[in-house]
Amino acid sequence: MSESPVRVRMAPSPTGPFHIGSARTALFNYLFAKRYQGKFIVRIEDTDLERSKPEWEENIKESLNWLGLNYDEGPDKAGEFGPYRQSERKAIYKKYLARLIETKQAYYCFCSAEELEAHRQYLVSQGLPQVYSEKCQSLSPVEAEKKRAEGERCVIRFRAPKKDVAFEDLLRGKIKYDTATFGDMVIAKDLETPLYNLACVIDDFEMKISHILRGEEHLSNTPKQILLAWALGIQPPQFLHLPLILNQQRAKLSKRDPSIAAKVSDYKEQGYLPEAVVNFIALLGWNPGDDREFFSLSELVNEFSIERLQTSGAVFNVQKLDWLNGFYIRKMPLAELTNRCVPFLIQSGLIAPLWGKAEAAPLVYSSDFTVLEYEAVETKEKYKFSDLARMIALYQERLKKLIEISELIDLFFQKELNYPTELLVWKKMERGELSPVLNQLETLLLRIQEGDWIKEKLEKAIMVEAEKIGDRGRLLWPLRVALSGKTASAGPFEIAEVLGRRKTIQRIKEAQKKL
Ligand code: GLU
Repeated sequence: MSESPVRVRMAPSPTGPFHIGSARTALFNYLFAKRYQGKFIVRIEDTDLERSKPEWEENIKESLNWLGLNYDEGPDKAGEFGPYRQSERKAIYKKYLARLIETKQAYYCFCSAEELEAHRQYLVSQGLPQVYSEKCQSLSPVEAEKKRAEGERCVIRFRAPKKDVAFEDLLRGKIKYDTATFGDMVIAKDLETPLYNLACVIDDFEMKISHILRGEEHLSNTPKQILLAWALGIQPPQFLHLPLILNQQRAKLSKRDPSIAAKVSDYKEQGYLPEAVVNFIALLGWNPGDDREFFSLSELVNEFSIERLQTSGAVFNVQKLDWLNGFYIRKMPLAELTNRCVPFLIQSGLIAPLWGKAEAAPLVYSSDFTVLEYEAVETKEKYKFSDLARMIALYQERLKKLIEISELIDLFFQKELNYPTELLVWKKMERGELSPVLNQLETLLLRIQEGDWIKEKLEKAIMVEAEKIGDRGRLLWPLRVALSGKTASAGPFEIAEVLGRRKTIQRIKEAQKKL
């Protein structure tokens, strides 16, 4: 490690929603910064003004915030080296670009698209690398100025030195590039509008970035950035290129891969916990060196080391994420889990907080829903937070994603269940036998008084009879279906307890009416 303080950055372009792969880059930068008591900076690379949108920047910030990857400096966190949005740094770029032109390391190029294409085709036909012809290199500053004054369209090209560039990747070791294949690349549209590679070099220098941790897909940009840094007399930062993320077919994961949700916000909306997502993406290219699989963000801060990063591609396995999510759900205290489920229940239209309309409720994880009261949208019955917790408790073991909760506990909020009568029939039973069974259940349940309405007592009362019949399913199956209306659900006694006496008996009556 070098002596200078560790400063790393994440430099997303706000041209689309924050991608899960970018989240991983952000996480490793965050961990690296924490590990070395450094700073984690977010820089918004919005030089492409047409494609950059404020809502995508919002999405980036929200996603980082949701994952708990707090940054020290960024567009909304003042720091010494701002502004942290490239669109606000034009004056800085202008200074550097002017210097490159003055020292003849960059020049204006007036070649038309047709000219460039014709040259490219010639190179292809000769089997040569497709590089710029260097035609405009020979224009004198006076000639170039004249053309510009006449309004001729131009770009700024870098006079790339033809020498090998070698650098030490912290993960991959020494990497060497023959820069003859780059040619004189375009580095800016005009003095205030640098393209990515140049803006990146200037900003990384101005922001005193010590290490660049980014995806392997940027590896080929690195020698270009090093050449530009040298031209500007800048010492490049140290580089580390993280392994590619692969889909399950082992192809590079694309933002449009249908097999996974690309956007971080989709994971949030589907009810993945940020804890699980962080744990999951940490293992995309890093491992602790043993078989441990569960890591909180703070554990990762303690454990993370670049020595345990891999160079080979990391396979994105959604089943593993689901499994991790289930794990975090199971170990979460019930009140916390309920708090996180409430936004989903509201959003699905089952319940509404008593202070407003369901649609107005935000899907905000950090909100405190424990203090509110709710009403079932259909029945207008009132529920306390603790009532919701009792329902959710029945499903904590089997819940994989929070969004599933609505379909599991909707039965508690519905006026009447809507299920086919056939579902009530136990597999070892004829439909004609259903009526006496439901009558028997009603009689048994009516005998249990309000004060005794707990699952243990319900179970005892019904199981005695079920054992007598010799086939428990004959009572338990119709009971469970009558109460839940579902092929699968929590057990009948648990549901009955949470439903309460009145509603349980009412549901048996409704089942009888169906026959
Ligand atoms: N804006 C670039 C991107 O989003 C940043 C790459 C880098 O880290 O240098 O891919």
